[in-house]
Amino acid sequence: MAPIDLNKLDNFISFALGLRFCVSGLQDFILDTMETTHQTILQRIPKGFCNKNCSRKYGNFLSQWCNICRQWKDELGKLCRYKKQRDRINWKEIDTIDFPYSTPDSYEAISKVFVRDVHQLRQGIYQDLGAVISLFMNMKTFSIDNQIMADVQRHRNNSFAHNYLVSVDETEKKLCLQSLIRMLKVPDIFCKESAKVAVILIEELLSTKGIPTSLLQHQAARETLALVRENFEQLAHCTELQTVAFASARNAFKERIDNLILGSTIKQQRLPKGQTVRFILKCICILIPLFGMLYILSNFQMQLDPSNEGIY
Ligand SMILES: [Zn+2]
Repeated sequence: MAPIDLNKLDNFISFALGLRFCVSGLQDFILDTMETTHQTILQRIPKGFCNKNCSRKYGNFLSQWCNICRQWKDELGKLCRYKKQRDRINWKEIDTIDFPYSTPDSYEAISKVFVRDVHQLRQGIYQDLGAVISLFMNMKTFSIDNQIMADVQRHRNNSFAHNYLVSVDETEKKLCLQSLIRMLKVPDIFCKESAKVAVILIEELLSTKGIPTSLLQHQAARETLALVRENFEQLAHCTELQTVAFASARNAFKERIDNLILGSTIKQQRLPKGQTVRFILKCICILIPLFGMLYILSNFQMQLDPSNEGIY
């Protein structure tokens, strides 16, 4: 098998980083929107809590559910964009007991109503871009242009999740990262702080050939790389051929990330040495003129009073 092209591998890692930054960038928008929706529903239905977790206990046998869980289910049902999707909800995978609480955990429990194949997720809904897009598409509260979401989804699947060669060329990298920026720049999303930060980071990936070293000086970026490495096993591979291709690329990918993390850590550790040299240079720059001035002053005094009699 041909050796992996390092530039194309770096482009793949850049896009993987871009996807993580995009997920982080969407957080403020998702949480704020879900909080508002939650408050609106709370005002419409009678106050109260469930102590049985009806959905897990009774599943689709709705006649057994308590009044509170049923009310929440009816209200959320109104927010389903597609009837087909509403009919497919597997209530056994959802915790209606969490719904009445005004907390991020409750918003996430509610979001499961709108996300396809919740049981396949290995991390929180809001940390998985595929799940987030499913939420945006299926929940009426969100009104993001379908084409923007379809582009992100296509690039994520083709260039990342099903890319067994872990290699992305320059043009593809640009298109992938631009699709993420386009989504983050939707006005309702871009007005949130987390989206603004993410756009700056992704634009840096876009304008740099390879992985931007300045980015790797940040602890958060190195942690993101480690997370990308950790989540790498989650890439979907179906056929035996894909598994073989994936296995050969996997080691190159992990090794490259390790080198990047290690390289940036070493550079950071060296930084104080550089600072010491700069400090010494600064001292020299200050001291040389100072000694020079003292020398001139002492000569000047001697010229004024060569007999040293001026003390009288
Ligand atoms: Zn209940």
